Amino acid sequence: MTLQTVFDAVVVAAGSGSRSGGAKQWRILGAQTVARRAVQALSGARHGVLVVPSGDEALGEATLNGMQNWRVVAGAADRAGSVRLGLAALIGDDDAPVLIHDAARPLLPGAVIDALLAAVEDADGALPALPCADSLRRVQGGWIVGAEDRNGLFRAQTPQAFRRRITLTEALDRWTDDRPPTDEAEAVLAAGGRVRTVPGDPRLMKLTYTEDFAMADALIPRQIRVGTGFDVHRWGPGASVWLCGVEIPHDQTLIGHSDADAGLHALTDALLGAIGEGDIGDHFPPTDPQWKGAASDRFLVHAVELIARRGGRIINVDVTLICEQPKVKPHRQAMRERLSELLAIPLEAVSVKATTTEALGFTGRGEGLAAQAACSVELPA
Ligand code: MG
Repeated sequence: MTLQTVFDAVVVAAGSGSRSGGAKQWRILGAQTVARRAVQALSGARHGVLVVPSGDEALGEATLNGMQNWRVVAGAADRAGSVRLGLAALIGDDDAPVLIHDAARPLLPGAVIDALLAAVEDADGALPALPCADSLRRVQGGWIVGAEDRNGLFRAQTPQAFRRRITLTEALDRWTDDRPPTDEAEAVLAAGGRVRTVPGDPRLMKLTYTEDFAMADALIPRQIRVGTGFDVHRWGPGASVWLCGVEIPHDQTLIGHSDADAGLHALTDALLGAIGEGDIGDHFPPTDPQWKGAASDRFLVHAVELIARRGGRIINVDVTLICEQPKVKPHRQAMRERLSELLAIPLEAVSVKATTTEALGFTGRGEGLAAQAACSVELPA
């Protein structure tokens, strides 16, 4: 029911990220920038503002591609200033709840948003917090000098939610301390507001150090996709045939616009199928003279690149060649090795098989060769 709650959002991506060795909000995590993931997690917002470092506005606009109700503004020197600029850029009534989020926390579960919106129904603000599981030690120069009681200590995360946007704006306006507030909740508390916690989530980790990115990458939800492909070419006069990227001496060849490597064509279609990218003819039209006699390697490599561009990974492939002649078995290992190389996956993940059709049908009569392929691909969700 809280899913219907109207809320606005400000995502702060204004940091320069010196501790992680670069502007972390623009780094790629599973084929998307960190900032894009943070913003998309809040795509249920009525209006949203992405606050970026001055000069990074174009990167911000690219991040918001397709998100109609979001806009980019340049931030200030400190976080509180950036949040204020973001709040000021929000349109619509300022009486609705607002969520303030760090772009550096890209893995935001929807359940946390729901819990925050429910929590601010009877509080001025709410933030996700995790209890400290590890014991706390005070350390100086690598030496333990004391222990701290972790009882009652929580690790604060974002988004921080506020029941009324105006409450937060006024609290930030009223902040008079020389140092800026640690976060928005501190300003609201100082202004006399009540702020509660909701259960935080370990996936909301703030990407700070270089090694955090590998951990976040491992936490991205992924899905397994399956693709299949099928191809046939006709036999004609010739002295060799290309199958699965290997040239085999034979008393006939396969006829086609390209090198007619049915094995590679079926496999290319399987890979394209796994990512919903149409078929080989969509990418390399047979009417286009530039593909006449082309080595089919490039078709396969193109499909591999499309998968990589999506942050995907080929798990395995399985190709079956259907023909009476030539005998495939003596060449199977070479075919697997070639495919392993083209796909950049281990040999054990590449299968090439062959079968006859017991002299039945067009393959049995030696009119043509058929190939079918299957593959599985892992894609970031
Ligand atoms: Mg073909």
